[in-house]
Amino acid sequence: MGIAENIANIKNNLPPDVCLVAVSKTKPIEMLMEAYNSGHKDLGENKVQELLAKYEALPKDINWHFIGHLQSNKVKYIAPFIHLLHGVDSIKLLKTISKEGLKNDRVIQCLLQIKIAEEDSKFGLAPHQVRELISSDVLNNLPGVKVVGLMGMATNTENIDKIKSEFASLKSLFDKLKGTPFLPDFNIISMGMSGDFKEAIACGSNMIRIGSSIFGQRFYP
Ligand SMILES: *Cc1c(COP(=O)(O)O)cnc(C)c1O
Repeated sequence: MGIAENIANIKNNLPPDVCLVAVSKTKPIEMLMEAYNSGHKDLGENKVQELLAKYEALPKDINWHFIGHLQSNKVKYIAPFIHLLHGVDSIKLLKTISKEGLKNDRVIQCLLQIKIAEEDSKFGLAPHQVRELISSDVLNNLPGVKVVGLMGMATNTENIDKIKSEFASLKSLFDKLKGTPFLPDFNIISMGMSGDFKEAIACGSNMIRIGSSIFGQRFYP
């Protein structure tokens, strides 16, 4: 099946409040253009160099999501245009993003990445670090960045109960933070990929990041 059909099939079965990010990492421009021509404008990438090349080549009304681990020294390259940063996991990074946001006359929207999986390879803040961060006045002093939600990745396992309990823990943290006055525009919970997005939605996700089920298998990570 084609890319447009894959996107339509996923979207037709999504609850209306769930946003689909089509993860186009490693895929060629022509495939991204197919998604765009079908009317889909939210695309996700995880490497700065690759994102820049695609940004240059493609229409300027695409909403680019950065879903990878971002190094502070690379923020400046994507600060002029990035729509949403999903993987923010340190105060140092938030400070850099705010500085680059101000330089570009922008307030850059971010999701804090929370470590919900057991695997060591997955980045993210621990729940207590997030609570410390938002109850301090750090964010008040960073006018070029806005924390609009949380992002998490479940363990890569066949164990559905484990996946669900990890997503449920992210949702519960999200609900607690959403009620606080420190985070006025806190609305997005980004969880769910090709293999687990149905579980993520059942657990309250409102943004899913789908790559292989749209663009096909990737041959390198
Ligand atoms: C690659 C990637 C995805 C998409 O993965 P699929 O299994 O291909 O849907 C989602 N989120 C992140 C953070 C990724 O790196």
